[in-house]
Amino acid sequence: RLEVTGLTRAFAARAVVSDVSLQVAAGQVTCLLGPSGCGKSTTLRMIAGVETPDNGRIQIDGHDVFGPSANLPPEARGVGLMFQDFALFPHLTVAGNVAFGLAGDKAAKMRRVDELLEKVNLSGFGVKHPHELSGGEQQRVALARALAPRPRVMLMDEPFSGLDNRLRDGIRDATLAVLKAEGAAVLLVTHEPEEAMRMADEIALMRDGRIVQRGAPYNVYNAPVDRAAAAFFSDIN
Ligand code: ATP
Ligand code: MG
Repeated sequence: RLEVTGLTRAFAARAVVSDVSLQVAAGQVTCLLGPSGCGKSTTLRMIAGVETPDNGRIQIDGHDVFGPSANLPPEARGVGLMFQDFALFPHLTVAGNVAFGLAGDKAAKMRRVDELLEKVNLSGFGVKHPHELSGGEQQRVALARALAPRPRVMLMDEPFSGLDNRLRDGIRDATLAVLKAEGAAVLLVTHEPEEAMRMADEIALMRDGRIVQRGAPYNVYNAPVDRAAAAFFSDIN
C-alpha cells in the first residue's frame, strides 16, 4: 500500500508539485492523469526517491520512506520502476535483465525469471538480447524486470508511449493482467485519458501541480469537476 500526504516541490521558487496526497491499495491501479508539464513525473520521481520533496510524507505498507525523520534511498523503498524508454541493459540477455535486481541463490533466481517470462508471454526468450526483440517484447521484458524483486509499489511513467498504436491496447491489457496477478500497488502516470479509462481503478486528475479530482474512471469522466476537466476528457471517443 502506498500513501502519499502533502507532497510538495518547487524548482527555482516555482511550485511544480503542491500538496499532493493519494493512496493506492495493494492490487489496485491509480492513474495520475494530466497535461504535459503538470508535475506527474516529478511526483513519481519523489515517490521513487530520485527527487527530494520540499515537504510531505511517503509511506509504503505503513513505513515512512520519506518524511520529517526518514529519507530512504530508492533501492531500500521496495518500489519497482518502469519508464518510457525501457532502458534494458543491451549487453545482458533477457534472462540477465530480468534477474538483475534479484538476490539469492541461482536456482531461486532462475525460477523467478522463468515464472515472469511465462507471465509476460516470453517463455523461451531468455537467451536473446534486447536488440533482437520488438518494441512490444522489450516492454514486456522491462515489466518482468521491474516486477522480479516483488516490489510492494510499482511506479510507471508513460510506459506505453513508445509503442505502435495498433499494439498499444493489447499491451495495456496484458500489462494490467500481469500487474494484477503480482498484486503490487500501481501508480501509473499518463497524459492520455483513454489509457487511464482503460487501466485505472482510480484516476487522480492533476493540473498545475495539484490533484483537482479523484475517483473511479466512470465518475471522473461523467462528472468532471470543472470545464477544464471536461475539456481534457472531451477528445476520447
Ligand atoms: P509530461 O507529461 O510532459 O511528461 P509532467 O507532468 O511529467 O509532464 P514534470 O516532468 O513533472 O511534468 O515537470 C513539471 C514542471 O517542472 C515542468 O515545467 C518542468 O519543466 C519542471 N521541472 C521538472 N524537473 C525540473 C528540474 N529538475 N529543474 C527545474 N524544473 C523542473
Ligand atoms: Mg512526465
